[in-house]
Amino acid sequence: MHQEIAGTSPIQCKDAVISKKSADKIYCANCKHCKLIRSQTSGNSDEYQLRVRCDAGKWKKKLGEEKFYKYFTVARRSIPDCAFYDPMGDTKTFLKELRKTLPIKDEVYIA
Ligand code: SF4
Repeated sequence: MHQEIAGTSPIQCKDAVISKKSADKIYCANCKHCKLIRSQTSGNSDEYQLRVRCDAGKWKKKLGEEKFYKYFTVARRSIPDCAFYDPMGDTKTFLKELRKTLPIKDEVYIA
């Protein structure tokens, strides 16, 4: 996942075991098109939550709107195949390191 923002401080999460099988799938988090963005909360303009988006436009809702996912779930996004997949490194190593730093829930950050 490519980070576009600065000033965030994700917290540590529990260690996660990556199976051999998982390294064979395409994980969006390891793709250059998976971007981390800020999403302002509705209550306070200084507060935001972290979301991920596919800048290749592959994540859509049923009615065609772009779909965003909560950042803390990003390691779960996998697909069997994608013509736009552009890996940033070894999947297994990348996911292992990512899971060490992902928040365990949908955190609210202050700008
Ligand atoms: S381009 Fe494909 S692999 Fe990359 S983030 Fe989008 S859907 Fe996932």
